[in-house]
Amino acid sequence: MTNPSKRPMRIGVLALQGAFIEHMDRLHSLKADAIELRCAADLSAPLDGLVLPGGESSVQMKLLRELGMYDGLKAFIDSGKPVLGTCAGLILLASSVEGQSALGFGTMPVTVRRNAYGRQLGSFHTCAPFQGVGDVPMTFIRAPYVTEVGSDVEVLSKVDGNIVAVKYGNQYGLSFHPELDEGTWVYKLVFNL
Ligand code: GLN
Repeated sequence: MTNPSKRPMRIGVLALQGAFIEHMDRLHSLKADAIELRCAADLSAPLDGLVLPGGESSVQMKLLRELGMYDGLKAFIDSGKPVLGTCAGLILLASSVEGQSALGFGTMPVTVRRNAYGRQLGSFHTCAPFQGVGDVPMTFIRAPYVTEVGSDVEVLSKVDGNIVAVKYGNQYGLSFHPELDEGTWVYKLVFNL
């Protein structure tokens, strides 16, 4: 993506709940103009990109609606500008969530399974290949994975045969938390920073 105005990219990070501080820090380290999105008024500033962080997707969904942020964020995702959803953020993007009727934005044609690794293996760390990037560290925390993908969805990474990263047009969905490990590769990839 080109940024002809040369002003820093302004990336909105949904900051209602969950792991948003780390995304803010990583984006600032790349000299992006990262702003926390906490209420509907925060969506009035024009954004170049959006991060939907990890956390608890059902809580995030409830807050989004209560705070009147749903429509503005959905419109942003539909606009085609880059969006990164990590963990709960991936669940918010998915068009189908196993065993659950309430959806988030539903803008990415994938099915996800929440807490897919069960309680025994709630959290773990690994290193695995990510398409176009190479091996990257991956921290999973009560993570979902993708069980079905629609047409035009690119699978970017699998761990133990399970899909943990996908791309659909402007939207990237990751099961894991790249912001909790060293490195800024994910922001360079998604936002071209
Ligand atoms: N288990 C959470 C959910 O289902 C996701 C966990 C995370 O974002 N680290 O929403």
